[in-house]
Amino acid sequence: MWQNPTAMKILDDSVQLISATCPACGLLCDDLLVGNSTPISVKNGCPKSQIFFRQAVSNTSPSMFGVDCDLNAAVKAAGKILLHSSQPLFSGLGTEVQGMRSVMALAETAGATLDHMHSESTVRNTLAMQNSGWQTTTLTEVKNRADLIVAIGTDIVTSHPRFFEKLVWNADNLFNKATPEVIFLAATGNTSAGTSPDGHAPTIVTAETVDLPAIMSALNALAHNKKLDAHEIAGVSVTALIAVLAKIKAAKYAVIVWSVGCLKIPHAELTVQSITQLIATLNENTRVSGLPLNSGDGDSSINNTSAWLSGYPTRNRFNVHQRGGEFSYDTYHFSTQQQLNNCDALLWISTFNAYAPPSSVAPTIVIGHPDMQFTQAPDVFIPVGIPGLDQSGTMFRMDSSVALPLKAMRKQVLPTLSDVLRQIETLLA
Ligand code: SF4
Repeated sequence: MWQNPTAMKILDDSVQLISATCPACGLLCDDLLVGNSTPISVKNGCPKSQIFFRQAVSNTSPSMFGVDCDLNAAVKAAGKILLHSSQPLFSGLGTEVQGMRSVMALAETAGATLDHMHSESTVRNTLAMQNSGWQTTTLTEVKNRADLIVAIGTDIVTSHPRFFEKLVWNADNLFNKATPEVIFLAATGNTSAGTSPDGHAPTIVTAETVDLPAIMSALNALAHNKKLDAHEIAGVSVTALIAVLAKIKAAKYAVIVWSVGCLKIPHAELTVQSITQLIATLNENTRVSGLPLNSGDGDSSINNTSAWLSGYPTRNRFNVHQRGGEFSYDTYHFSTQQQLNNCDALLWISTFNAYAPPSSVAPTIVIGHPDMQFTQAPDVFIPVGIPGLDQSGTMFRMDSSVALPLKAMRKQVLPTLSDVLRQIETLLA
């Protein structure tokens, strides 16, 4: 394992622990200590982080149509595909800030359309924010101030395992806040993490995801002091909803958490808007903030990088004939699903997870996780290092307020995404 003497802690003669930031979810915990001996030990990490740091490199060879080749040949083939393309789609985009900078540079040269693999979810939040604004908070504020957590449509810990440990049950807060209460307004999930260290169980209001639009509308009506001519809304008693509202109003700093990736319902953006409207209404008399959970695979980093370089998050397009000037943005037409019908080349990138590309009739270049498996071998596959494990990088936490460095934790045997993209770009220049 690669060793940085300045970041190393020696516990005994045999085990050296290196401090690390974990990129396996949007919390980006930076208190991990990762061992240098096999089996690799991960201190402070959750099971998800242990899987991340313990993964082995299974494949180091680029390939063309499933046949191994050297890196130069693969880069040349990828360059040729993009050179002959007039409407390439760069999708997946599972990477961190430095990788995304290289993606943007190549996209500008190639005139590509960009879409992140989780945009279908992210766009729901963006649409709600663009339409009416929102009041959201940061993880630091949750840690130091929140005295009530209301989780809507999510158990939180399935996607962000240490949320309660680090931000809710933490004793190291700045303002001596009371032990927070927790309410789950959600279908069944892992709600046990909402039980406080002193045994106080969370309030659970069971609500199916498909019913959340109606339930959120009812909560908004009640927040405006309307009387509902019903005893229950989609199976949830109005009395329970009134009790939830009363707890939010009584809290000093309530935080409403949702995961748009869990809202697999038509027009989920309207439900997000309903949540943000409730937050705005309640803020007239008390303090309530929203906290949207991210979907992962670098989505926050990718969209921030895209926004500062082009003015838009992904689902944007570089116009190759107006280099340095024109970008377009279209949350519907520039989706991967739509562009797969029109593009004449697909570049799929997934470095954190071995997510394979969608099926496409267009020539396909895949750059990403070495374990990626294909039902149909792409024209070109180039395995690259995993950020935070094989290579260094920078990543935004899910609240976008903090960017953290990722370290290379082991000897590098694969090129970085940026290395490969720069080589391809040289062929297009
Ligand atoms: S909670 Fe998330 S960031 Fe923290 S250790 Fe687990 S997977 Fe990594």
